[in-house]
Amino acid sequence: MAILEEPIKEPLKLRNFINGEWQESQTKNLRDIVNPANGKVIASMPVSTEDEVKSAVAAASEAFPEWRRTTPLSRVRCLFRLKELMEENFEELSRIQTMEHGKTIDESRGETRRGIEMVEVAAGIPSLMQGSILEDIASGIDEQLIYQPLGVFTCIAPFNFPFMVPLWYLPFAVATGNTFVLKPSPRTPISQNKLAELYDEAGFPPGVINLVNGEADAVSVLLEHPDIKGVTFVGTTAIGKNVIYKKCGETGKRVIAQGGAKNFMIIMPDCNLDATIAALMTSFYGNAGQRCLSAANAVIVGKDDAFYKRFTDAFLSASSKIRVGYGLDESTQMGPMQSPDGKARVLGFIEKGIQEGGRMVLDGRKLKINGDYPETCFVNPTIFEDVTSDMTIAREEIFGPVANIIRVDDLNSAIEMINSSRYGNEAAVFTSSGKVAREVRYRVQCGNIGINIGIAAPMAFFPFCGMKDSFFGTLHGQGRDAIRFFTESKVVIERWF
Ligand code: NAD
Repeated sequence: MAILEEPIKEPLKLRNFINGEWQESQTKNLRDIVNPANGKVIASMPVSTEDEVKSAVAAASEAFPEWRRTTPLSRVRCLFRLKELMEENFEELSRIQTMEHGKTIDESRGETRRGIEMVEVAAGIPSLMQGSILEDIASGIDEQLIYQPLGVFTCIAPFNFPFMVPLWYLPFAVATGNTFVLKPSPRTPISQNKLAELYDEAGFPPGVINLVNGEADAVSVLLEHPDIKGVTFVGTTAIGKNVIYKKCGETGKRVIAQGGAKNFMIIMPDCNLDATIAALMTSFYGNAGQRCLSAANAVIVGKDDAFYKRFTDAFLSASSKIRVGYGLDESTQMGPMQSPDGKARVLGFIEKGIQEGGRMVLDGRKLKINGDYPETCFVNPTIFEDVTSDMTIAREEIFGPVANIIRVDDLNSAIEMINSSRYGNEAAVFTSSGKVAREVRYRVQCGNIGINIGIAAPMAFFPFCGMKDSFFGTLHGQGRDAIRFFTESKVVIERWF
């Protein structure tokens, strides 16, 4: 099939969006952003200076008092306009995600759709942000609860969902009357830079939404800044826990920090095998395994050798047919890793898996790429059997298309294995038994549970959860949790003489 037209024809020179203006950074420190499929440079990103980060925060602080006083209906009119612009630019936004990240165009279109849904849900703020009142809590005395915005929030974004993740927060933050400073991932900054053009066009007043490109130094400035009231972060557990959560504790900022994952799929012998295999293909290999909700370990329950063989045969056969190539080729089912580092990381885990006694039944290092592309970032689906829960590949987040197959005797062992993992992002069970499903829902210590669903990604009107080393904070992104996170509760008790 033909390659879809690339929306980026010449390398872009990314700029910062501060106080409603596009500003060229003064830094000499620039990063090339490379399309991982074909190795072409598609943008140059500035590593902004400390002063530039501070000026973004200053712009957001100055914009806050007036934005807060803007009526909720007027605020969400900017979101309605933004939604229209996102729809008008849907295909271009999606293709840009594929170009900077490598995911398939269908995965990018799904990501764009999810991003738009956040804006749609946040547009309900005039209803969702309402407080409550009770008359006569004592004779002639009324008590009311109101929700008020706090000031400036920030988002420190990961590389793997360059378009959607900041939208878990930003629409809810600005709809509730806060202002925002966004720092995109330095590996995939283009989608957010494009989206900022739409924020500009949607009519948000200057300073309400600011974007500053940068790396860890920019994050340090944001974390230390007294005017930043709250931080949203998505990324690795090491940074989320040891840098973001810790610093926010020290500086007294609100925080949502979503970390890494190791997701278990429980396979019961009574599952619908065809539907299960189809769901597992997208869960293990979608986004080339670079999802916090990607399946990592398939846990086959029971001593039924015939079922085990039927499952592994079907799993191997489907995995080896995944078509790997450039995501702008619509026949591609899996793109490359986002970076050479990402590929090196996956290869390191594969080596470790072999050393620790995993039996490799599909070797993704033997590349089959559909088309003439450099091998730099590509890995094919890889499967290990005879994996045990103490092996590194079963415990650590690989973040690539590597599937581990583990056998256990019973459901209880599967649940205990999941609950002994340091992570708690997602688990799924494939079964036709309601009793089994309930047991999993009831006992498994993970924030997002799939019942015959391989990627249990909550919709915009539900919180995106996470437990243990996958989440640091109390309230989550999306849904009503986000509205509570971005507002301060205030109680007023009143009596009139
Ligand atoms: P990362 O931790 O490397 O980077 C995330 C952000 O932190 C980036 O903006 C980066 O500039 C910044 N950063 C990096 N090092 C820093 C430092 N030393 N100090 C301050 N800031 C720093 O994460 P990544 O590789 O971009 O993202 C992949 C990770 O994100 C995976 O672990 C994945 O599971 C996780 N993730 C989790 C969820 C979830 O919902 N739990 C969703 C998506 C991704």
